[in-house]
Amino acid sequence: MESAELVIVGCGPAGATAAREASRAGVRAVVLEKDAVVGEKRVCAAGLRPGFCDEFDLPRGIVHFDTPRLALFDARGDEHEVIFGPGHTSTREELDGTIARLASEEGAQIRTQALFRGLSRGEKGTVVEYADLRSGARRKITARSVFLAQGATAILDGTRFAFDRWRDGLMTTLQYRVYLDRPAATIAYRTLELHYYVGSDGRQIVGWMFPKRDHLAIGLGVIGKMEGGKLRAELDALTQRIRERLYPQTAPSRVKVEGHLLYMGAPRPILTSDGVMLGGTAAGLVDATNGEGIYEAAMSGRLAAESLAQHRNDPYRAAQRYARAVGSRFVRRLRHRLKLMHFLERRPDRFGILFKQLASTPHLPEILHGEARRRTVRERIFLYTQLARFFLAAR
Ligand SMILES: Cc1cc2nc3c(=O)[nH]c(=O)nc-3n(C[C@H](O)[C@H](O)[C@H](O)COP(=O)(O)OP(=O)(O)OC[C@H]3O[C@@H](n4cnc5c(N)ncnc54)[C@H](O)[C@@H]3O)c2cc1C
Repeated sequence: MESAELVIVGCGPAGATAAREASRAGVRAVVLEKDAVVGEKRVCAAGLRPGFCDEFDLPRGIVHFDTPRLALFDARGDEHEVIFGPGHTSTREELDGTIARLASEEGAQIRTQALFRGLSRGEKGTVVEYADLRSGARRKITARSVFLAQGATAILDGTRFAFDRWRDGLMTTLQYRVYLDRPAATIAYRTLELHYYVGSDGRQIVGWMFPKRDHLAIGLGVIGKMEGGKLRAELDALTQRIRERLYPQTAPSRVKVEGHLLYMGAPRPILTSDGVMLGGTAAGLVDATNGEGIYEAAMSGRLAAESLAQHRNDPYRAAQRYARAVGSRFVRRLRHRLKLMHFLERRPDRFGILFKQLASTPHLPEILHGEARRRTVRERIFLYTQLARFFLAAR
């Protein structure tokens, strides 16, 4: 049977970053990706946080627009402007495709049309089974370490990673790529818009408008399932509101409809076992409500690569190091964010209170954005004061 040092499942931001950075450190990685072209089928608004390209050493060519404005729309539809960054927009074809190309240049082997089927324990490591969709053959690889990063569809029932609350965290999303004959208002191309409001059936909706070179990505997500017609009606209503502000005189020449699952629940309780590590959305290590999921997925890939590079001959210690790293980097913070989201949803007017505070206190988003580094005492005091101010106003 074929063997490999590291097998990565999924070539999204988590898997591709892990492949690139592990290969750069000398770890021989094989990536299994079910799609024929990396990134081509990813449904995503592909908004990137400030500094993303620098942090992950990616070419500026993938950036469509630099977006210095974050426009937060509250439950009443009022807009709150937060200046930051700037953030960027791209497409997943370009982003995932570029990281995968750079991973190949570092020596990773990317196998497309390779559909992961399951894992089992073998004498010399973990046996990864996949279907080669070109030939229809079933294949197996024995891997010393495995990084599972196959996104929101990673149900993983019947494995040690099964999580009975996984389905409760799944969001249904729908997005239009709106192609216009004439450009929209200039401000559209300087802005990432996020909309938080209650939909017609009383459920919380997160919507967005992110500008791309040749289209506007307008979409929304809702927790749980929503019947197709209703979801489309919600998106039509949001699109109409955006159109009135940003391209009132221009009819779209084409609209492409796309949808996918997203995850916004708690991280899985078990993230590693016997040399197998879970990353990105598959692990629940992303916050789907604020447009940071790509960053968080890529960061989990980086932490996996660092752990593997540090303990090349000991997959168990590598996995343990990874579990500790994601535990301190993500898990607590994601649980806090989830609690905050539930707190806001219980009384949607709270979104407005929070956004007003973020807009009027530029130092606050700046500090929140720097969550990767250790905060100074002064910054922590400032954050606690702001937190108290918000909770007093939002009681
Ligand atoms: C509509 C929408 C809009 C979004 N907008 C943004 C945004 O603007 N900014 C942001 O930061 N985040 C956004 N997100 C979230 C973002 O897409 C995710 O957080 C991010 O993609 C997670 O990366 P990942 O590598 O964990 O998984 P994914 O990107 O989902 O990648 C998983 C990969 O695994 C492959 N795969 C799946 N199953 C198998 C299998 N069985 N065998 C082999 N390969 C498999 C898939 O084809 C895919 O390439 C959005 C998500 C959606 C759905």
